[in-house]
Amino acid sequence: MTEKSWAEEEFQDIEYNLKTIREEIARAAALSGRSEQDIDFMAVTKTVDEMFINHAIACGITLIGENKVQEMLRKKPNLHLNGVRKNLIGHLQSNKAGQIVGEVDMIESVDSVKIGREIGKQSVKKGIVTDVLIEVNIGREESKTGFMPEAVEESIAELSEVAGLHICGLMTIPPICEKNTELCKFFTNIYNMYVDIGSKKLDNVSMNILSMGMSGDYAEAIRSGSNHIRVGSKIFGPRIY
Ligand SMILES: *Cc1c(COP(=O)(O)O)cnc(C)c1O
Repeated sequence: MTEKSWAEEEFQDIEYNLKTIREEIARAAALSGRSEQDIDFMAVTKTVDEMFINHAIACGITLIGENKVQEMLRKKPNLHLNGVRKNLIGHLQSNKAGQIVGEVDMIESVDSVKIGREIGKQSVKKGIVTDVLIEVNIGREESKTGFMPEAVEESIAELSEVAGLHICGLMTIPPICEKNTELCKFFTNIYNMYVDIGSKKLDNVSMNILSMGMSGDYAEAIRSGSNHIRVGSKIFGPRIY
């Protein structure tokens, strides 16, 4: 196959996948009394070539996510980002905070008070406020980053006082579950936490975004209250590292 036809085929796959996912988003949203417009649909673009990311943008994607600072910064100049938001979704090291603050629209992966403070500090230095989500380790897994559920409220209260930071909601990656009922339990737990913290109306905290749901579970996540999904391989195919 020539390179051109290979890319053409990939473009068509992306179009087809986006259409399929959008239909499923609409169905899941309707089942939870909402519409497709209520769900923010992120294309996770890690390891994906800029040419395919730009194609997804041409097909209407308005939010992209990368999990690594260097990869985001490297790709950014080659992307058609007019009207497209870009979020960091992976663990951020303190020594890289200065590089990414101001380069993305949101950091979804604040997983410690320390990194939250560093993002705040770097934001103040640049004269901006950075929107962030608080990452919750909802399954209490050792292999994952994020705040333990019982520490979330107190940590949010602490971070709400940090200048240069605006907390917009919660983010999570649930454990791999064999049964859907088990998965939904994790989703429901964090949804309840999200509603509960939102009802406290803390200064400088707006609980508007609940970021959960990936390629394998976004429909369940939406039905459980997610309003922001992060989908990678279902759009672009399996990742090749
Ligand atoms: C890679 C990644 C995703 C997307 O995963 P898929 O299963 O490919 O949809 C979502 N969220 C985070 C934080 C990721 O790192």
